[in-house]
Amino acid sequence: MPPPSVPSALVIGAGIMGLSAAWGLARAGFAVRVLDQEFAPNPRGASVDHHRLIRHAYGARLGYMRMVDAAYAAWDLVWEEIGEPLHVPTGVVAMAEASGTGWIAESRAALRGDGREVTDLTPEALAMRLPMLATEGIADAFHLAPGGVLLARRIVAALADRLKRRGVVFERVRAVRLHPDVAGVELFDGSDRVADLLVVAAGPWAPQLLPEAVAVQAGVIPSRQVVVMLEPPACHRPAWEAAPMLLLRLTEEGRGFYVVPPVEGTPLKIGDHRFSLAGDPEADPREATPAEVEAVLALVRARLRDAADYRVLEARACYYDVAPDERFVVEALTPRCFVMSGFSGHGFKFGPLLGLALARAACDGALAAGLAHWAAGEAPPPPGLLADLEGETNVA
Ligand SMILES: Cc1cc2nc3c(=O)[nH]c(=O)nc-3n(C[C@H](O)[C@H](O)[C@H](O)COP(=O)(O)OP(=O)(O)OC[C@H]3O[C@@H](n4cnc5c(N)ncnc54)[C@H](O)[C@@H]3O)c2cc1C
Repeated sequence: MPPPSVPSALVIGAGIMGLSAAWGLARAGFAVRVLDQEFAPNPRGASVDHHRLIRHAYGARLGYMRMVDAAYAAWDLVWEEIGEPLHVPTGVVAMAEASGTGWIAESRAALRGDGREVTDLTPEALAMRLPMLATEGIADAFHLAPGGVLLARRIVAALADRLKRRGVVFERVRAVRLHPDVAGVELFDGSDRVADLLVVAAGPWAPQLLPEAVAVQAGVIPSRQVVVMLEPPACHRPAWEAAPMLLLRLTEEGRGFYVVPPVEGTPLKIGDHRFSLAGDPEADPREATPAEVEAVLALVRARLRDAADYRVLEARACYYDVAPDERFVVEALTPRCFVMSGFSGHGFKFGPLLGLALARAACDGALAAGLAHWAAGEAPPPPGLLADLEGETNVA
């Protein structure tokens, strides 16, 4: 009797989404080939930086808030796979200059509505907890114990390495045209690759690669985002090393910043919550301009005690792909082609979870529509989509 044939999959993109899809598909029995224009970890990819945050505070976005428990369970499987947990728990402090309305108030209501423990912080408690910050004028604050830092660059490197040892093939090539109906792709050198299944996880390059009608319908736009790494003065270093991640909303609608504390030798990092919705991930320089650096520092300066004593270590521009309402696009374009796109500034934490779910839907076409709605944050997962996580303790 001939041996049963092994289904094959091509994955475009070796960021966290492509690697996670490759991992899910390899676990499901596919022979997987990953194509990327760079070696992983690609320093120009949206996934590659010292860190990415995982937290439940999600404003009124109940779908994504509820996905975080399953995301943690999927990360537990990744830690087993790569042999070490690359996550540092820090907890979360969320703060706002206005009380009673906006993202912080919505997050608190949503978290409490789901029975999660949220500790409100009085101005005195906040000042004690964060002595390196000027907390005057913060009108609302809470602490959430779960949440932490995912060591992103190390995760991408370890996952790519582990997949190679599992037999996944990596090729450094540039894809120029997709053939979703036949799970095929044309490459820059004129050759092509075909498989039983194609997954397109091209990050901020997706709008350039996807068929135009698909890109327009998904509404995904690349967005240049600047992050600034700082060295705090020696007197504040111990406080920063013990700090939670900080999410601060300023009074002006939509303005705010996040701070990633220095963990495991990584720098203190500041980022802007707003999207630029501009720029070209391929053509534009990645050095941040002095004006871009100043725009980030201007957000945070008034909140840092001894701000003049902080030193800028590095500032760089990253790109991510933003879809309307920051919803994820994880959809079957055809029965043989899935697209993973629109992960904006909040996708990394969900990478392994989405990779496992996509692999399930690839094996059972009836799950594909439910996958898309769930990944868009609009609906609970259909039965069977998260079967890989059954028995994992972290799933609520
Ligand atoms: C500054 C910043 C802060 C963020 N903070 C957080 C956070 O705190 N928490 C969180 O959960 N998420 C966060 N995110 C979001 C998250 O990191 C991204 O959404 C996620 O990493 C996207 O992964 P990806 O695999 O889709 O894209 P990428 O990592 O960009 O991977 C896409 C890959 O596809 C390859 N590729 C593209 N086109 C082609 C082609 N034609 N041929 C061959 N290869 C191709 C690229 O080379 C690239 O390696 C942040 C993102 C940024 C930029």
